[in-house]
Amino acid sequence: MKLLFELSKENRRMNLIPPCDVPEYSFDESLLRKEELRLPQISEVDLSRHYTRLAKQAHGVNDGFYPLGSCTMKYNPRIDEEAAALEGFTAIHPLQPQSTLQGALQVIYEAKELLCEITGMDDMTFQPAAGAHGEYTGLLLIRKYHQSRNDTKRVNIIVPDSAHGTNPASATMAGFKVINVPSNENGGVDLEALRNAVGEDTAGLMLTNPNTLGLFDPNILEITRIVHEAGGLCYYDGANMNAIMGTVRPGDMGFDCIHLNLHKTFGTPHGGGGPGSGPVGCKEFLKQFLPKYTVSKNMDGNYYLDVAENSMGKVRSFYGNFLVVVKALTYIKSLGKEGIKEASCNAVLNANYLMNKLKGYYDVAYDQICMHEFVLSLDKMKHETGVSAMDVAKQSLDFGIHPPTMYFPLIVHEALMLEPTETESKETLDEAAEIFIEIARMAHEDPEYLHEAPHNCLIRRPDEVEAARKPILRYEFENDQ
Ligand SMILES: *Cc1c(COP(=O)(O)O)cnc(C)c1O
Repeated sequence: MKLLFELSKENRRMNLIPPCDVPEYSFDESLLRKEELRLPQISEVDLSRHYTRLAKQAHGVNDGFYPLGSCTMKYNPRIDEEAAALEGFTAIHPLQPQSTLQGALQVIYEAKELLCEITGMDDMTFQPAAGAHGEYTGLLLIRKYHQSRNDTKRVNIIVPDSAHGTNPASATMAGFKVINVPSNENGGVDLEALRNAVGEDTAGLMLTNPNTLGLFDPNILEITRIVHEAGGLCYYDGANMNAIMGTVRPGDMGFDCIHLNLHKTFGTPHGGGGPGSGPVGCKEFLKQFLPKYTVSKNMDGNYYLDVAENSMGKVRSFYGNFLVVVKALTYIKSLGKEGIKEASCNAVLNANYLMNKLKGYYDVAYDQICMHEFVLSLDKMKHETGVSAMDVAKQSLDFGIHPPTMYFPLIVHEALMLEPTETESKETLDEAAEIFIEIARMAHEDPEYLHEAPHNCLIRRPDEVEAARKPILRYEFENDQ
């Protein structure tokens, strides 16, 4: 496929830039560039076709099934986008007088109240821009807490091996040392190992729950008790809230702080490069350290920006990605109390339905009732046929399905992780099951064919490390100096 610069023809033009509506200003000659910018020259119709062609090569939730585990690629209602596009939200500036921003502040305030109710927390900041940023912010809360008590020997954060990969990374970024604890044979935290890991140097525990195996830890109350008794705090990675919202609350399980991924669970599409939002909720005793600003309401019913007593300062400019908060509030209000619970119950039901359809054709890594996602291990298939998790994932592309998450979590060999989400119908799940069963049959009959998959995609097997580490983001002109 040709790039824009390759489509360029001298003096092709279009008229997309609106007329200038501010006074023109002439810069000094010395400040002007000496050569013309090398921009592609292209007509409007060719530009439109170029992007339409590109869009057709991509796969989104609107194209088909997207069971990318750990990512909650569900369909997000249009009404969320409509609310976020309202001029009263898009045409405001954070430095306007607060009296003229009452509606926007009310959105943040109400979203905070509702999400605190859903998570069982007492206060929340919307500053963090995404999940990992929220983890970092939550860990700074824990750090501030220990510092405020002059408890400076608490430098360790305990992270189970079934945690999301961002957990150890964020703990390290926040200046802690990461202590790994293994899983037991049921995929939960090994309690004996946890008891041995905690001590006077424990700052806290970060728990991804449901964990990356899609399992809810049945010992969760015991886990938080062990950590609290050792003097540590408990951080809940709530990016998987889609499995439990409306049913159980991390605040009731003994957790002191949590982050959510609004761009997974609450009405903003995940992927596409953002923006996201990773609000952090906390219990009363941690409120004093929250980043500035938070939104409060005074006796007269007016909203205002508040600064916590011992605030850690800012972790991002202004109030975070505000329009994502608008979408979250719209999402929660349009579903209502019952709808929120029903959504997560259906996410769990759909995952169990699909898992049971695939059993017998694929090995389930931890064969028990799952939450919103489950993990297959293709270890045996690979031994028997040579077909790997990568081959199966690539073949699913030819059937118009986005591949599951591959080789994650790391504790499962040849892992494929599927998260169907609640917005898929039974028909879609049945169809997807048939496709994966067909791929399992192909693996035994014609493994060579799967090694070459996908057969119908423009890009087939890129060097993924190279693509991630050294992306080519700039057009190389032939006569470039
Ligand atoms: C997605 C996810 C994260 C990270 O969220 P980002 O917004 O990608 O930074 C953290 N934990 C879990 C369990 C997740 O699924």
